[in-house]
Order: sequence, then structure tokens, then C-alpha cells
Amino acid sequence: MWKVLVTEKVHPSGLEELRKAPDVELIEKVGMNEEELLFCVRDVDALITRSGTPIGRKVLEAAKKLKVIARAGVGVDNIDLDWASRKGVVVINAPTGNTLAATEQTFALLLAICRKLPHAFNDVSMGNWNRKAFMGMQLHGKTMLIIGFGRIGSQVAKRAKAFGMDVLAYDPYIRTTKAEELGVKHVPELEGALALADIITLHTPLTSETKGMINERTLRAFKKGAILINCARGGLVDEIACANAIREGRLRGAAFDVFSKEPPSKDNPLLAEDIRDRIVLTPHIGANTHEAQSAVSSIIAKNLLAALKGEPYEHAVNLPFMEHKLSPQGRRFLALARKMGILAASIVNGAPGSILFSTRGIPIEEVVEVKKYEYCSHSPYAIAALKGVLERHLGRGISYMEAPILAQERGVYVEEASISDSRYRYLMQLKVKSEKDEALIQATVTEDDCKQRIIGINGYRMDFEPKGNYIIFQNHDRPGVIGKIGSYLGEKDINIANFYLGRKDGSGLAFGVLQIDGKVNKSVLEDLNAVDDFIWVNSVKFEGDQ
Ligand code: NAD
Repeated sequence: MWKVLVTEKVHPSGLEELRKAPDVELIEKVGMNEEELLFCVRDVDALITRSGTPIGRKVLEAAKKLKVIARAGVGVDNIDLDWASRKGVVVINAPTGNTLAATEQTFALLLAICRKLPHAFNDVSMGNWNRKAFMGMQLHGKTMLIIGFGRIGSQVAKRAKAFGMDVLAYDPYIRTTKAEELGVKHVPELEGALALADIITLHTPLTSETKGMINERTLRAFKKGAILINCARGGLVDEIACANAIREGRLRGAAFDVFSKEPPSKDNPLLAEDIRDRIVLTPHIGANTHEAQSAVSSIIAKNLLAALKGEPYEHAVNLPFMEHKLSPQGRRFLALARKMGILAASIVNGAPGSILFSTRGIPIEEVVEVKKYEYCSHSPYAIAALKGVLERHLGRGISYMEAPILAQERGVYVEEASISDSRYRYLMQLKVKSEKDEALIQATVTEDDCKQRIIGINGYRMDFEPKGNYIIFQNHDRPGVIGKIGSYLGEKDINIANFYLGRKDGSGLAFGVLQIDGKVNKSVLEDLNAVDDFIWVNSVKFEGDQ
């Protein structure tokens, strides 16, 4: 039975689905103070919140059994994502539920400012009849520039086309074909495009890159008399610069649903009396339709339940990638990359300082959408290798969420490259460096029988399946070494299941890998490390998926 705590008012449709689920106990406690929340989260498996419940470190520490936080909406600013990731708590949201609501609000704002609707309404309500004062601007034939061509941006484009507008899209992260399929021109450069548009509408997330992207300098690039719409995030626009551009007639008008500080303070420049006739403001109501709220509630209920059950789910905010979206082959490579990390960290002496993960032939982009975070923009396989390295180094399990955070914190530099070794169609290579040492592992998944194979260690050719318990060692390449280790393990009642030896001509050194039945204890490793023939001896356990 999973306990799910709802801390804010959420549309009943999704809650009803959870109430019907036989394995869920739904607890609704809206409006708790911090103390009550800390008490109530102690034994819950999942939380459903909106933006009004701060889920910081204290709450996450108190919630010992917490596995999932579901945000009924999009923004997760109230949740400490880093800390949730460290605790292995998945944060999910519902970014698709309100796409159409926000799209329609964009047009509501656009039409309102073009036809001065709020101003006309106010005037009529005051008993006036000033038809000439409300001369509007027609959308047909105008050029719209959409900045951010994701879910909402592309829906805005479809509707703009229906109004007979020419549409440009600025979004460096999409394929040009995505825009072209909707009859939209994908522009490569922002400032040039700003000069071409009659209407500029913002649909990007707020990131360090997009923060303040509409500022004094970019506003000067706007076509004179353009209209600006912001139904995305407040911090995208420098509000002082925008108010000045309206005041000076460089902008014909602007409409905002979102503000840098919400609610805006009385002295917010967009509230200035002298520009009121050229501005339309709404209180962040882009997602506020019954349909959107119902959709959001159903989406989070479905995904929360799936996440609790360990089934595939969508919209995890703090997972760098969705493992279940990998193909079975991709999952084999993912598990293998982690094992390469474990092996490399067992060989390298000292704390890992950098990781270079190289691949050949592994089709990352085709199998999974990789989320780019400011702290993590690596492929799933590099993250898996990093996870393996850190697990071995720190001696505990680490989630895919936590691995990049730990790497950043510990100054482990992660780099990715491609390799051109044509012996294998698919190849992964991991180089882990510490201050004193380095380890190089090569591995593949065989094409015919889909088996994971380690095919190289530190330049020694190998060929074994990383599965179960191993003793690994580097030794002086001289007669009798294998006999010695065989007899010693025999005395200790440790059975050798398989044996692999790699030699480098002329080096005088060899690399050995013994697969054994059962574990090796510390004293066995100490005894073997004391034998002159060995440079070093260690043990490795490969668990998990094959
Ligand atoms: P999305 O993730 O589907 O799309 C965002 C797009 O922005 C992506 O295609 C991305 O590539 C692009 N982008 C990122 N950085 C960029 C940059 N520097 N320059 C240009 N493009 C860039 O998101 P979405 O669901 O379409 O939401 C868009 C925005 O609308 C978000 O900020 C979201 O929070 C906001 N939103 C507001 C409301 C509201 O109530 N007003 C409701 C829903 C969504």
C-alpha cells in the first residue's frame, strides 16, 4: 500500500483515479504549516503538490520513505531538485497538460493588445463611446517571431498560420525540419530576426541563457512598432527596458501573463500609468482552464502511480534520461557502461579526477531524449560509466540523478568523444584518471548473441563477460605466477570458474582476470598483494543487468 499525500488543491479528476487504485492510500491535507508538513511526510511514499508547498532539504530529510514528488503543473521552483536527486526521489511534473491553455492565452493576449480590448471595455464601462480611440492592428499578413519552438511555441505557430501570418521560429535546439513541417521558417540568429517581426512571442524556459534575453540591446533590434508577448516566464524580459521601449514608441505595445516577481510590486515598471494604454497584463493565468487543470491532474496521477510501481512513466524532471525509453540493446550498453566504471575504479589508484568516455556506433539520439541540465549534459552511457566509477569509489549505490551532482561537487571532470576503432561496430571506451594513475577499459555488446564483453584493459587485450565475482591483477610476466595464485586460492577453497590473461609483448608485464565462485575477503587480497610476482591485486563484483 502506497501512501500519497496531497498538500494543495488539485483538480479532482486525477485524485479520483488514485482513490480507485487498490494499492494507494490517498491523504489530502491542504494548507499545512511547515511543522505539520514535516510530521505528515514521515511515512509517505509520494507527494502531490503545486507551487505553494516548499519542498526543501528539511522536508526531504524528514520524508524517509519518499520516492516520488508529483508537481501538478510545470514549474518546480518550490522543490529542491538537487537534494531530491541525492535522496533518489524522482520529481515529475505535467508539462503537456497546459500546452493548449497557454497557447490560447498567448492569442488572448495578442488579440487583446492588437485590438485594445481591455482598454475599450474599460472605456465603454465608463459610459463612453469612443470608436476612433480604439483603432487596432490586423494579424493577417503580419510576421510573427516565435522564440522557443517547443510544445507551446509550435502550437502558437499553427494558430498564427490560420490567422494568415508569416511565422519565423528562433530556437537553436530544434531541427529545422520541425519548423518547416509547420510551414515556419527556422531562423539561425535572434537579433536579425527581431528586426523582421511585427509580433514577437516568447516560449522558452527560464534558464541562465534565456534570462533577460529581451533587454535594452535586443529591444533596440526590434522593428519599430512591434508587439511583444510574454506568456512564458517572467525573467525572460528586462521589464524596465520594455517599459521604456513602449514609452518611446519603439514598441507598439506589450502583453504579459508573467512577471519577474509575482505578484508584481506596485512600482513594477510595467504598471506605470503613462504606458497603461499600450499594455495588457494578466495574473499568470496561462494554465488556468478547467480542461488544463483536469489534464494536469490526470497526467500526474497516471505517472505517479507508474513511478511507484516501477513501470514506465513520463516527465521526470530530475532524471537525466528515461531509462525505459532505451531500446533493449541500449539498456545492455547502459548496464555495461556502469560495469566499465566499476572496473576502471577498481584499477585506478586514488580518487577519480577525470573521465573520458568515448563511443563508436551507439545510436544515443535515436533511442532516448537526453535532458540537458546545467550540471549534466552527458549521454546516458557516460552517466552510467560515471555512476559505476563513483559507486566503486564511494562504496555505495548511486542513482543516475545523483551521479552528475556528485561529480560536479567532487571536481570529477566528464568528457565525451567518439572513437574510430573499426574492429567493432559498437565500441565503448572509458578512461579514468586520478592524480597518480589511469585506467582504460574497452567493451562491447556482441552483435550475434547480445553478450556484454570487456575486450581491453589498460591496453591488454581481454575477452570476458562481466558477470559475477572476479579477482583482477597485474603481474610480472614470468613462469609460475598462475600456478601460485591457483594453489593459493585452492587452499582457501575458492574455485576458479574462468581465467583470462593479457600480455603486452616486450613489457614484461601481464594482466590477469580470474572469475571465481563466491566472494573474496580482505585477507585473501592482502595475502596476494604481498606476493612479489604481483604488482597489485584487487577484487571486483559485477552485479545487475546483462
Ligand atoms: P518546451 O520545453 O516544450 O519548449 C521550450 C523550447 O524553448 C524548446 O524547444 C527549447 O529548445 C527552446 N529554448 C531553450 N532555450 C532557448 C534559447 N536560448 N533560445 C531559443 N529557444 C530556446 O516548453 P513549453 O511547454 O512549450 O513551455 C514554454 C514556456 O511556457 C515555459 O517557460 C513554460 O514554463 C511556460 N508556460 C507558461 C504558462 C503560463 O501559465 N503562462 C503555462 C505553461 C507553460
